[in-house]
Amino acid sequence: MTTTQPVRIDVDVVIVGSGFGALAAAQKLAGTDLGVLVVSKTTEHLFQPLLYQVATGVLAPGEIAPPIRSILGRHKNIDVRLGEVIDVDADAKTVTYRWGDARTVVGYRYLVAATGASQSYFGHPEFAENTFALKTIDDALTLRDHILANFELAHALPSSAERDELLSFVVVGAGATGVELAGQIRELARRYFDSGSGGIPADDVRVVLVDGAPDVLPVYGGKLSEYTARTLRRAGVDVRTAAVVTAVDDEGVELHADGRAARIPARTVVWSAGVEASGFAGVLAAATGCAQDRAGRLLVGDDLTVGGHADVFAIGDMTSLGGLPGQSPVAMQQGRHAACIIAGKTARGTAFRYLDKGSMATIDRFHAVASVGPVKLTGVVAWMMWLAVHLLYLVGFRNRYVAVLSWFGSFVGKNRPHFHLAVPGAQVAEPAESVEVSA
Ligand SMILES: Cc1cc2nc3c(=O)[nH]c(=O)nc-3n(C[C@H](O)[C@H](O)[C@H](O)COP(=O)(O)OP(=O)(O)OC[C@H]3O[C@@H](n4cnc5c(N)ncnc54)[C@H](O)[C@@H]3O)c2cc1C
Repeated sequence: MTTTQPVRIDVDVVIVGSGFGALAAAQKLAGTDLGVLVVSKTTEHLFQPLLYQVATGVLAPGEIAPPIRSILGRHKNIDVRLGEVIDVDADAKTVTYRWGDARTVVGYRYLVAATGASQSYFGHPEFAENTFALKTIDDALTLRDHILANFELAHALPSSAERDELLSFVVVGAGATGVELAGQIRELARRYFDSGSGGIPADDVRVVLVDGAPDVLPVYGGKLSEYTARTLRRAGVDVRTAAVVTAVDDEGVELHADGRAARIPARTVVWSAGVEASGFAGVLAAATGCAQDRAGRLLVGDDLTVGGHADVFAIGDMTSLGGLPGQSPVAMQQGRHAACIIAGKTARGTAFRYLDKGSMATIDRFHAVASVGPVKLTGVVAWMMWLAVHLLYLVGFRNRYVAVLSWFGSFVGKNRPHFHLAVPGAQVAEPAESVEVSA
């Protein structure tokens, strides 16, 4: 049933989003005497760091994206709704969300916004038309279909420029996502399509990783960046740093490096080069008078409040505070901090303090880097650590159990248990046109 008349409800706390920040805030408020409403435009709680494994058939979507309702539904004081929040009235203390034609106005005492970020194309929104994104489950499945279809199409062709293009993959952005994806596509070439006598020789598959910065994984720098570049090159990835993408079309990319232009023919270009705040950050900024940075992130107060409104909090990737990175531990810790203030466990106005427990990235099977304070780890030790930490943070016992089986099959064996077309019979998929590009 649809209705054009908005329905009105009132709750103590509205949490917008179902990602890392929102889930942490909701879990902290579970079991309190506050009525909490979680509104998200997606049904799932998405573990974005493992999206690249869905795109390369290691994990199934359900293993990294359990429904938020199934995680929070057992708490009597929490209601979960599917909908996109489109409006905020900070004076009347209401938000409006829509689902289809239906509109619901929700009165709140406290608002926590955790709507994350979307891809940024550094002033070239047209790049979205010919590149694949990796932010949502749909993005990962679209990319998985495309990679699979390209390998299969190439397999049916004799040596030719078209076959070379189908087997060429350009990943733009050498942060953790770009490094992990480039490494996994090489693994696919070496350990999946090359297996068996009739396979595609791994040397026929070209993977190019491009970044404008002088190093891969620039946030790590030094030895860890050098180790990562060396390991990728040894695995067969063509690493191009200090190279800027100047144009993208459906047959490749143009780069500018060392004062020279170069073209890389490729049917697959994945964009993982930058982020900007979700569109909802602009809605909240307009409603509260909060300033935004160049990437649209809200410049929140030290206590995570927005525009001086003591009852409105914003957390995670949609915010900018003291140069903190756009990473899941920041969003989770901020979610808990806001929830503690709301529940009266922490005094109003208390500044947020981030506890940095370190960070890590995988490169390929048995190779990773980890940075924990002054300790820098590489190789198989870092990889085991990465595996353990990601298992720990995967939500739900069943997901962990199934993920271990999938990892065992892919990393010890040569299987790709989930490498099949999401849409059976689909040919080469187009890049997702629904990529959100906010001004
Ligand atoms: C491919 C990839 C790999 C990553 N790898 C790592 C990693 O290895 N380590 C790490 O620490 N971090 C990593 N990150 C970053 C990490 O995922 C983010 O920092 C984290 O998700 C931020 O949490 P958040 O709650 O701010 O936003 P998100 O987790 O992005 O959640 C945003 C939520 O808001 C919802 N939403 C958006 N707009 C609306 C609206 N208007 N109304 C209702 N709901 C809305 C969305 O549906 C979503 O549920 C990675 C990110 C990506 C994309």
